[in-house]
Amino acid sequence: MPVADYKTYCRMIDHALEKRFAYPAINVTSLTTANGVLKGLAESKSDGIIQISTGGAAFASGLYLKDMPLGAISVAEHVHRAANHYPIYVALHTDHCQAKMLDHYVAPLIEETERRRAAGEPNLFNSHMFDGSDLPLKENLDIAVQLLDRCHKNELILEVEAGVVGGTEDGIKGGGEEKLYTTPEDMLEVYRRLGELKGARYLLAATFGNVHGVYRPGQVKLKPSILKAGQEAVEKAFGKGARFALVFHGGSGSALEEIREALDYGVIKMNIDTDTQYAFTRPIVDHMMKNYEGVLKIEGDVGNKEKYDPRSYMKLGEAALAERVKQAVTDLRGVGTTLFGSDNK
Ligand SMILES: [Zn+2]
Repeated sequence: MPVADYKTYCRMIDHALEKRFAYPAINVTSLTTANGVLKGLAESKSDGIIQISTGGAAFASGLYLKDMPLGAISVAEHVHRAANHYPIYVALHTDHCQAKMLDHYVAPLIEETERRRAAGEPNLFNSHMFDGSDLPLKENLDIAVQLLDRCHKNELILEVEAGVVGGTEDGIKGGGEEKLYTTPEDMLEVYRRLGELKGARYLLAATFGNVHGVYRPGQVKLKPSILKAGQEAVEKAFGKGARFALVFHGGSGSALEEIREALDYGVIKMNIDTDTQYAFTRPIVDHMMKNYEGVLKIEGDVGNKEKYDPRSYMKLGEAALAERVKQAVTDLRGVGTTLFGSDNK
């Protein structure tokens, strides 16, 4: 059953921490994009994470409904069915959800998992993100502790954020310069508060100058050393082995050396959206330009059904997305790291 269960997901995280690689966490919005991710992961022999944003979930449910939980559940159900046939593990995650959106997105999805568990079925999602980075840290963590408690009871992992990722993603605007870098003090506080729930697992999106969206080279001033300083502060305060599993948001356009450096400091999940969006669209642009007269009915002509059939270009997008996922796995040192084979020997 290649959608990872809780134990497997925890092992995936520990495996990545130990071997200093990371899982690509790719945003999907449809069956086609989810299939592209699965293809890319399978061909890389890497486990990975499929995630759905609030906007992606609304889109997936269709323009008439625009129902976020429904869209997220639909894509997740598909992944559960399809992933069974792939030789890798995949985890299902929901992306940024701000406090005011929790009741409309994460809460109904946890309820769905609770319903399933009561019926003896596997969890729907493996993890959810609560993004309280627009709140004062205390308020952010008060909500996070409550949510983590509920997640832990249901074998779910919670991702939290301290500091703000710059740029724009689904209408979320990043904050001012100073909050682009999480301080060691913030990281200590996160560790202290969330550590009160013994045994509960969480991921931390710490910010080190990362920006959502993509910018010209040189625009993004990443400081992975921020992560190193935070990990060292935590180890010093809480003892050997105290360490965060970190998430890298807004990595599009980052230099490979900076990505690799972040992996050395405990990044085990790298979110990828902008780069895979472009990868998907790129061959479709070619298709439309090369087949201009076929995809259009020009001056009373009938066009070319083979060229305007959406499958003809959607599959180009899916294949290109899969290739971009393979590149991400390579960048993140994940090729051949799947736990799936090792479980079946
Ligand atoms: Zn993000």
